[in-house]
Amino acid sequence: MTTDDVHALDGSATREVRRRLEEERRKRGAQLAELEEEIGRTPLEQVEASDWSRAENLRQSLAEIDGAVRRLDDGVYGRCEGCDQPIPPGRLEILPYARYCVRCQGRAGR
Ligand SMILES: [Zn+2]
Repeated sequence: MTTDDVHALDGSATREVRRRLEEERRKRGAQLAELEEEIGRTPLEQVEASDWSRAENLRQSLAEIDGAVRRLDDGVYGRCEGCDQPIPPGRLEILPYARYCVRCQGRAGR
């Protein structure tokens, strides 16, 4: 299998992925803005640890989404950063900004 086969996303598939990524970015961006506003209104020592970690998670997701959009622009979207193999479409369906296949993700998470 050549590299070209791996990235045979046609124009409409690319547009669909981009649309989903932009939607996710908008959604999470709005959640983050709301949460940050809430944190901003709360005296710092009273902000719940769970709110900090939620904000952190959202920032992380936004960075991941930006990364996925960049990979899409570079034509390497959908390739695992760990093993360089294509990420199964079913996984991208659930997590459109996935950077790793399930196997590499498991390894990275450990
Ligand atoms: Zn992998």
